[in-house]
Amino acid sequence: MYYQSRSIVLKNRDLRDSDQILTIFTEKEGKVTAVAKGVKKTKSSLRGCTQPFCHSSLYFNRGRDMDLITQGRIIDFFGNSREDITRTLYSMYMMELLDKSLLERVPLPQLYAALARVLELINQQGLDLMLVRYFESRLLVNLGYKPIMDQCAHCGSKELRNSPFSLQEGGLLCPVCMERGQHLMILRGETAALVRLLCEGSIQAVQRVKASPLASQQLEIVLEKYLEYHLERRFKVKNTIRLLKRTLAVSN
Ligand SMILES: [Zn+2]
Repeated sequence: MYYQSRSIVLKNRDLRDSDQILTIFTEKEGKVTAVAKGVKKTKSSLRGCTQPFCHSSLYFNRGRDMDLITQGRIIDFFGNSREDITRTLYSMYMMELLDKSLLERVPLPQLYAALARVLELINQQGLDLMLVRYFESRLLVNLGYKPIMDQCAHCGSKELRNSPFSLQEGGLLCPVCMERGQHLMILRGETAALVRLLCEGSIQAVQRVKASPLASQQLEIVLEKYLEYHLERRFKVKNTIRLLKRTLAVSN
C-alpha cells in the first residue's frame, strides 16, 4: 500500500551496497523507518530529497518491517543552516530529541508543523534560541506533558502565590501541596509567563517576545529538566540532551 507525506529526515545510516536506512518524521504517519534503495548512487533520484536539512514530499510503499521510499521531491532545503555550525547543531539537537522521544507511527501533525516552521525560520533568519524553546515546549505539549500553569498541578486549587514548579507533577503547586512536593524549582514571574506563552501562544508571538537574560537562562534550565524528567523515564534522552548541549557550548 502506498502513501505520500511531507517528511523531514531525522537520521540516516548506510545499509548494504548503495542503500540507506532512514528514520523520518512524516506529517501523516509520525516517525517511520524506511529504506532508500540505491540512494548513494550519484544518479539516484532519491539522493536530494532524502538528505538531512531537507523538507521533502516522499512516497512510501508500506512494508511489513520497514517502508520503502519509492520517489520524492524537495519542498525546501535548509542550506543556510547546514553551512553554519551553530545552526547545524541546534537543528541536529531537535532531530535527536524527536528520534529519541517519538514512538513509531503515532501521527503528530501539529508537532510536525511546528518543527517545519522552526527549521524554516532558523534557516531564513538565523538562530533564535526562543524558537528552540518553542520547539521543546511543543514537543512536551504533544507528548502529553503540557505544564499546568493556571492552577495547582496536584489538587487544582487556584491559589497560586510564589508557587514552585514541580517537575514530578508537571506544573505549579499551591501552598498546601508544595509542602510535600519533590523536584521543585522556583520560577521568576517572567519565566512562568514565558512557559505559558511557549505552550499556548503563536510562533509569531514567541518571536516578538523580548526576554531578559535571567529569564531566558531559567527557561532553558526548567525546560531541560522537565524534558529530562519525563522523557528519561520512557526513552533515555538525558545523555543526549547533555551531550548535545556540551557540543553546542564548545562551538559557540
Ligand atoms: Zn495543591
